[in-house]
Amino acid sequence: MSQGLVTAAYIVAAICFIFSLAGLSKQETAKQGCYSGIVGMAIALFATIFSETVSGLGWIMLAMIVGAAVGIHKAKKVEMTEMPELIALLHSFVGLAAVLVGFNSFIDAGNVSEDMHTIHLVEVFLGVFIGAVTFTGSVVAFGKLNGKISSKPLQLPHKHKLNAAALLVSFILLLCFVSADGSWFALLVMTVIALAFGWHLVASIGGADMPVVVSMLNSYSGWAAAAAGFMLSNDLLIVTGALVGSSGAILSYIMCQAMNRSFISVIAGGFGSSDAAGASGSEEVGEYREVQAAEVAAMLKDASSVIITPGYGMAVAQAQYPVAEITDLLRKNGTEVRFGIHPVAGRLPGHMNVLLAEAKVPYDIVLEMDEINDDFAETDVVLVIGANDTVNPAAQTDPNSPIAGMPVLEVWKAKEVVVFKRSMNTGYAGVQNPLFFNENSVMCFGDAKAKVDEILAELKK
Ligand code: NDP
Repeated sequence: MSQGLVTAAYIVAAICFIFSLAGLSKQETAKQGCYSGIVGMAIALFATIFSETVSGLGWIMLAMIVGAAVGIHKAKKVEMTEMPELIALLHSFVGLAAVLVGFNSFIDAGNVSEDMHTIHLVEVFLGVFIGAVTFTGSVVAFGKLNGKISSKPLQLPHKHKLNAAALLVSFILLLCFVSADGSWFALLVMTVIALAFGWHLVASIGGADMPVVVSMLNSYSGWAAAAAGFMLSNDLLIVTGALVGSSGAILSYIMCQAMNRSFISVIAGGFGSSDAAGASGSEEVGEYREVQAAEVAAMLKDASSVIITPGYGMAVAQAQYPVAEITDLLRKNGTEVRFGIHPVAGRLPGHMNVLLAEAKVPYDIVLEMDEINDDFAETDVVLVIGANDTVNPAAQTDPNSPIAGMPVLEVWKAKEVVVFKRSMNTGYAGVQNPLFFNENSVMCFGDAKAKVDEILAELKK
């Protein structure tokens, strides 16, 4: 394939990626967005592999077959609730790839002209730095999301000074690297520092801020890919990396606003977050009342307005299908039923919307937190199905709580609140929820799907 054709193919692929992002911005067009991305990626791969500058096709094919086999196996097996972990792991691969491309490009610079030599060295250094930070940061995020690493923020003494020192030393090493016309020593020392920096940056971020971290690492992985594109002189990789990097940064910013967090604080590794770790207790703070499914069914029959606030537990239990059936039944009986969706409910942005759409819950009764928060006071019954942090009043009342300041669904204002969960365990952020001990709250213990099935059976009687 001639260079001209490759460039033309790259432009078409880049346009497909832009359409893909546009499609993904709305639920109704998300599927087309995915198809557009797939077509763009197929064109990009085809043009790259068959361009006249590429050799060793056999090796590339072998790597692609192995990679595709692992990818297909993983994608078929992964549960919806494990998606964020998988995404974090995939980001770590992008980071590692950028580091390896950087080393490779340093060993063999290819056709870099004399006047571009210094720029190439800077590209190598920055590419390896961003890649290494993305790599370890994503590995820690993977561990935090699947529970292998504690979701509590790591509080090393002088953590912000450590981060600042890592950046400063890396900058000095960059100057040494360029002035020595490339030095393995500077490159390797910086790599070790960047690996530690990435690890520390994400480890310092507390449970409830993880959604922002995941989208931030998505952004970093984009910049790592763009850096690799500069080193390989591959325009499409630069464009794609920049698209991923900037869309990830915008998403992180939007999520920070929704969580009432400062963008700079979160990207700087929890800068400004409360150090009052004592406030994150998981001990029970009063007495709670337990109810059985039949009583909940009776409450629902008497109610004229119901709001359902789903969370991670609904996703784990796959309770969305019986929840959709209950909704349908109640609406047919004239009860007003709506859903209140917190921006970080579940384990990935839009998690609850996807589950409810899957179960065919009408879009128009699924409302965002800001749209529904004022209506709780006029609501008879709220069903909190597997949600915890996102309905925790401590975010408003306890300034020392790790989730302090995060906007929450104000479910406690309703006449009656039924909480579905299996035990008195805490949610993702590891903090106890005073909602459970309120006078107007009752607990319905058990697997969310089993309990909702029981209620459905009672309602059908
Ligand atoms: P939480 O993680 O706070 O709580 C989930 C609750 O579900 C737990 O209290 C658990 O209690 C219960 N549960 C688990 N399994 C079941 C089951 N089978 N049946 C019934 N209940 C179950 O959920 P939220 O959705 O309220 O909050 C999301 C949290 O995740 C926030 O802290 C957010 O910051 C964080 N996060 C969000 C991401 C995002 O992008 N949305 C990404 C990463 C983190 P029990 O064990 O007692 O059953």
